[in-house]
Amino acid sequence: MNKLLAKLTEKLKLAGLKITPQRLEVLNLFYGKMLHPTADEVWRKVRRKFPAIPKATVYNILDTFVEKGIVKVLIIGKEMRFDFNTSFHGHFVCKKCGKIYDVDLDCVGLGHGNLPELSEGHKVEDFQLNFFGICKDCLKKEGK
Ligand code: ZN
Ligand code: MN
Repeated sequence: MNKLLAKLTEKLKLAGLKITPQRLEVLNLFYGKMLHPTADEVWRKVRRKFPAIPKATVYNILDTFVEKGIVKVLIIGKEMRFDFNTSFHGHFVCKKCGKIYDVDLDCVGLGHGNLPELSEGHKVEDFQLNFFGICKDCLKKEGK
């Protein structure tokens, strides 16, 4: 078993999950890759290795991963996506190319797990912050 697979197996074990080849494959495809796939995109990729895998199985795997904190749900626009990077970060969405970038939240004073204090008195435990605009690659192409 290679190093990554050993690490991913350990991750499943730590979460108290049974190791299945399908679960391992989902992690293997996306873990540490800064991608933000929809459930459908995950299913289509997993099918390359497991052609007969039902959509529902992949959806269940993702649900379980969310429950165990292995992935985070991301709502961008009307779409639900999955983030395999559960460290504290925000997102930048490019309205030109549609790419979703991980971004540091130091710029708004929310880096390193700082949680904002709300004047209404609610206790914040988690939040999502999405920025929208034109990404650096698209800016370059436009020559700006
Ligand atoms: Zn772009
Ligand atoms: Mn992310």
